[in-house]
Amino acid sequence: MVKVPGDISPTVQAIYDAYEGGRTGFRPHLGASLIGRECERELWYGFRWCTLPSFSGRMLRLFETGQREEERFIENLRSVGVEVHDHDEETERQYGFTDFGGHFAGSIDGAALGIIEAPKTWHLLEFKTFNDRRFELLKKHGVEITSPEHYAQVIIYMDYMGLKRAFYLAVNKNTDELYSERIKADPQYTALLKDKAERIIYASHPPTGISADPAWWKCKCCDHRAACHEGRPAEVNCRTCLHSIPIDGGWWCEKYNQTLSYKEQLHSCSDHLYIPELLPGKVIDTGDDWVEYGFKDGIRIRNGRGGLSSRKIRESAD
Ligand code: SF4
Ligand code: SF4
Repeated sequence: MVKVPGDISPTVQAIYDAYEGGRTGFRPHLGASLIGRECERELWYGFRWCTLPSFSGRMLRLFETGQREEERFIENLRSVGVEVHDHDEETERQYGFTDFGGHFAGSIDGAALGIIEAPKTWHLLEFKTFNDRRFELLKKHGVEITSPEHYAQVIIYMDYMGLKRAFYLAVNKNTDELYSERIKADPQYTALLKDKAERIIYASHPPTGISADPAWWKCKCCDHRAACHEGRPAEVNCRTCLHSIPIDGGWWCEKYNQTLSYKEQLHSCSDHLYIPELLPGKVIDTGDDWVEYGFKDGIRIRNGRGGLSSRKIRESAD
């Protein structure tokens, strides 16, 4: 068979497929690694499982590369005499935190003593990998400007871990050059980030997005673009149902007065009713177990009793 340039070999494709087969679905909590993102609506959509995350096998492998690099960073630091604690020896898990009933959470790369620039100060550790272009920007402008998401993540982690300094260590994936920056705790920014997390977690409706223009470059790259700008009904699960609320330690169904496990939330039930903003029409009437929507062309659709199930609505949009 003649190989066309750009074709992927079946073996490489099988490797990518294996990554996709093993991928995890929705994240149970709002992650501290994302809290620095500008669009609160995007964060809310993620927390409410509106769009199934879809990463290609190549991307999933790239994430794994980043994780593997962490071990190397730790070895590098230890080799120059830095004391590194990267997991809790009792639980054998990474150190981390949760807040707001367990709905805001994160895991840290580690904590260190003996960083040569300030050997007596405990530092939070954060490791990142960069491509060449972004690495040059990082060297020029520092973490806060080049990567505000990383900056917010580090600021939040420092607060929850009770540390006043962080040691941010990044590698250029093309050249293996290293960049480090010591970052100071910032209590004011921490408070803003925590308020933001609380707002997103307890909002029962989507917050305003960063742009009403689908052509805005950030919207073009957003995973939730279809739900946000193109009227695509959100995924059907308990988090997109108007009967669900986040409570301490989990989720609660107000219709059946019961807690919902991760699995139950994923499967939902046949009484699912969309949070109204997650369908494209305008609410024109409501009743027991149903909500009716009107569209510009005069079409009316009832979601729930006497009308269409959420699943039917979702399927008809595919
Ligand atoms: S498409 Fe734009 S406005 Fe909508 S959630 Fe994404 S970033 Fe926010
Ligand atoms: S009514 Fe059904 S879909 Fe809605 S929260 Fe309760 S169990 Fe989930």
